[in-house]
Amino acid sequence: MKFVSTRGGEKVTGAQAIVRGLSANGGLFVPEKFPQVSAEELEGLLEADYAERAAHILGKYLDEYDRDGLLSACRSAYAKFDGGDPAPLVRIDDGVYMLELWHGPTLAFKDMALTLLPYLLRKGCDICGVKEQILILTATSGDTGKAALEGFKDADGVKITVFYPSDGVSKMQKLQMCTQDGANVNVVAVKGNFDDCQNAVKEIFSNPDCAAKLKEKNYILSSANSINFGRLAPQIAYYFSAYLDLVSAGQIPMGEEIDFTVPTGNFGNILAAYYAKQMGLPVRRLHCASNSNNVLTEFIATGVYDLHREFIKTTSPSMDILVSSNLERLIFELSGRDYKLTASRMKDLKTGGKYAISAGELEKLQETFDGGYADEESCVEAMYDVFIDAGYVMDTHTGCAMKVAVDWFEKHKKDETNMVIVSTANPYKFPQDVLYAVTGNDVKDSFKGVKRLHAATAMAVPKCLKELKDKPARFTKTCDGKKLFDEVLEFIK
Ligand SMILES: *Cc1c(COP(=O)(O)O)cnc(C)c1O
Repeated sequence: MKFVSTRGGEKVTGAQAIVRGLSANGGLFVPEKFPQVSAEELEGLLEADYAERAAHILGKYLDEYDRDGLLSACRSAYAKFDGGDPAPLVRIDDGVYMLELWHGPTLAFKDMALTLLPYLLRKGCDICGVKEQILILTATSGDTGKAALEGFKDADGVKITVFYPSDGVSKMQKLQMCTQDGANVNVVAVKGNFDDCQNAVKEIFSNPDCAAKLKEKNYILSSANSINFGRLAPQIAYYFSAYLDLVSAGQIPMGEEIDFTVPTGNFGNILAAYYAKQMGLPVRRLHCASNSNNVLTEFIATGVYDLHREFIKTTSPSMDILVSSNLERLIFELSGRDYKLTASRMKDLKTGGKYAISAGELEKLQETFDGGYADEESCVEAMYDVFIDAGYVMDTHTGCAMKVAVDWFEKHKKDETNMVIVSTANPYKFPQDVLYAVTGNDVKDSFKGVKRLHAATAMAVPKCLKELKDKPARFTKTCDGKKLFDEVLEFIK
């Protein structure tokens, strides 16, 4: 299988797409066509465990990677998850399920891909004959950074620097990153919000001078951000797995369509659901859930993507994003895979902060996608209601998705389609906000929040969070967005 850039000009293999991360002209790598999964294949996967299902889906895209290698990599990646099943489905009401993707080492769904990416990258380098060391630069809205650090710490031939917005991550997220161990890791705060941080990192990737300077020092750049196809591919697998679990449990007959609601920031998670649908998974609608930074809600309703709006800091920081990078892959598909049009829209976004798709494309978009959002108050209410009615505790990002799903149920009372809500973080990652939602109590300190949340819900506290309390911070630097590359050079000196 070959991969092409959304902005044209290049055709590469899967291994190259993963090693490079982003194409030379700034486009994102997408498969030349969507591999199909037949009904018989789905039947065959019913008995398979999660690692087997994931290896099967990955193998469809990464045909130069050997199957046994993929399977054993999936086995060891998902053995790092608590509780056996890395992506369990939990029923919270008739026809309503939570797909919990936060049982990995850093307690957020990013682990689903980032426990596997080091293998995909290392093997990709072997396949491509890359001799240089790899330097991973990643911008994070909080959860990617920790998951990438944990995935790549002490990996041979790899160094990693994570940049996070100085005023854009939760205290727990910051603590998780700044206490990271490993000899090959670096963590730096960047002044501003996530978009500033992501833009500064993208700047390095698209600057040939930076690449040349790194090459001199025997490094090539790669990214662990969700624009990397190696992040996207493992995410497709859990949509298949959730579907198969519903069939196995006798909740739906094979072939019946279901809906997913996905809390969305950079559009990576929900794009993986769209890819699963394109591959033949019986999916009816995808509900794209945002917080108050509802640029995607507006885009899905109107076809206009407009950045002229205030950036709002919310209690779901991993969704505080205005420039959703992976949306480029979707508008590329909607345009009928028109490279030139996609490139010109991305240019319009960069220069004028805005682009619009055509009426025909909007219609295509709305055939599959709905958009909705939760403001702070309605997120809290959704979390509270489910806790009271079903005894289920969810984090703030999942709370936004819950609110959007509830709005859909209220508008479509006769809809019998099963709904799977994608749950993206362990509630203890955002202890004060979750505590407030379920009890109305405000506490100033995160660890006090953890204690009280445990008292209120009896939910088990993850060991890695308990340990954080006494771990010293190793990384305390803050830098200006314009100085990022200096920081990188300093680190690899
Ligand atoms: C990253 C993240 C999201 C957003 O996922 P995208 O792939 O960026 O859309 C939602 N919730 C949590 C907890 C996350 O860490």
